[in-house]
Amino acid sequence: MKKTISLLMAIFLWLSFSPFSALAQAKKPKIYISVDMEGIAHIVNAQTSPGQFDYERGRRLMTAEVNAAIEGCLAAGAGEIIVSDSHGNAQNIIPEELNEAAYLIRSFPRPLLQMEGIDSRFDGVIFIGYHPKEGTPEANLSHTIWGTKFAEIRVNGRPVSEALFNAAVAGHFGVPVILVCGDQNVVREAKENFGDIETVMTKESIGFLSAKSPHPKVVCAEIRQKAERAVKRIKEFKPYVVQKPVKLDLVFKNIFDAETTAYLPWVKRTEGKAIQVEFADMLAANRFITALFAINNRQ
Ligand SMILES: [Zn+2]
Repeated sequence: MKKTISLLMAIFLWLSFSPFSALAQAKKPKIYISVDMEGIAHIVNAQTSPGQFDYERGRRLMTAEVNAAIEGCLAAGAGEIIVSDSHGNAQNIIPEELNEAAYLIRSFPRPLLQMEGIDSRFDGVIFIGYHPKEGTPEANLSHTIWGTKFAEIRVNGRPVSEALFNAAVAGHFGVPVILVCGDQNVVREAKENFGDIETVMTKESIGFLSAKSPHPKVVCAEIRQKAERAVKRIKEFKPYVVQKPVKLDLVFKNIFDAETTAYLPWVKRTEGKAIQVEFADMLAANRFITALFAINNRQ
C-alpha cells in the first residue's frame, strides 16, 4: 500500500513539475510579442527599409531587442512565445539569430496585420520597437500603420496610435499588454492607457529623424529585466478594451483614397479626406484596414 502511494505521489509530482508534462506547460504564461522597427534604439533614419545604407544594422538591433524580451520572459517562466514581425515587409527580424524558444510570424499580407496570431490562449502582450502616432511633435519616425496613406485613425472618435489600436485587438481576446518599449511619447501613452505596466524608454526623440539612446547593450539589459518583471506580475494587468460596436474613422492624406474607398456602399464619407465605418468589433476593424493595405500593396 505504502509503495502504491509513493508511486502515485511520484507520478503526480512528475505530472506537475516535469518540464515536458502537459500540466507544467499549461500553467506557463503564453506571451505574444508584436515587433515594429521605428521604436528600436538607434533606428532613427536610414535603418528601416531594404536598400537603405544602414538597414542591415537595423535588423540586428531589432533582433537583439526581441531576444532580450524573450530571455526575460523565459527567466520568469514563460511557456509558448510567439513573435510577430510587424514592420514594412515583415521580414526584418533575422530568423537564425532569434532565440530558439520562440516561434516567428513573418511576411504580409495576413488578416490581423501587426497582431496576427493573437487569441484568447495568450496571457500577455509585449510591444517592442513601437513608435508614436502620426502628427506627434518631437517624435522620431512617427506614423500610424501606413505612413504614406493615413493622416489619422480614430477608434470610437479617439485618435489612436498603433499601440492603442493593437492593444484593443488584444483586448478583444481579454489579453493585457504587459510591457511596451519605444520613445518617451510611446512610454507616456502606455502609462496613461494601460495602467501600471512595465515600460522601457529605448530613445528620447529629438525630431522626426533624430533621437538620443543609451548603448544597445544597456537598452537590451533593461528590456530583459522589465520583460522578466512583467511576466512575474502578469496577473496584475488588465486588458485594454474598447466599446462595441467600433466606429472607425480613417483620415487619408490623399483625397482620392477617401473618394474611392467611399464607393463601397457601407462606407460613409465624412469629410473630403475622411471616411467612417462601423464594425461589430476590433477584429473586423483591423481586417478592414488590412484589406485596404493589402489591396494597395499587392506584389
Ligand atoms: Zn509602425
